[in-house]
Amino acid sequence: MSDCIFCKIAAGEIPSVKVYEDELILAFKDIEPQAPVHVVIIPKEHAAASLNEINDENIGVISHIFSKIPAIASKLGLEKGYRVVCNCGEDAGQTVRHIHFHILGGNTLGKMA
Ligand code: AMP
Ligand code: ZN
Repeated sequence: MSDCIFCKIAAGEIPSVKVYEDELILAFKDIEPQAPVHVVIIPKEHAAASLNEINDENIGVISHIFSKIPAIASKLGLEKGYRVVCNCGEDAGQTVRHIHFHILGGNTLGKMA
């Protein structure tokens, strides 16, 4: 996806502050943090635009993201807890249509929504 900002971050064409990377996924600091710790995790490939496009073909990389979240959270010092958010679609305020998960923490988070 040539016009996708997260594809460009994954390709290194747009800089990011990386906190975890492997062959399949990348975690980087959100540019507009909504909590003291705010990291975005993406599949490097444009596997899906949103949660609505998860299917049997791309569930592997999504599982891989979730399998790495505990270690990423630990590396970020989130021993007291954190929240994982996936905004799906317009009403949820999704702004980047490359599936991604937010890790938020670093203080007591308010109630959801
Ligand atoms: P969402 O609103 O769920 O689609 O989340 C997209 C997130 O990407 C927002 O929290 C933005 O602040 C973040 N974001 C957009 N551009 C960048 C960038 N260049 N580097 C880091 N985070 C970004
Ligand atoms: Zn993309």
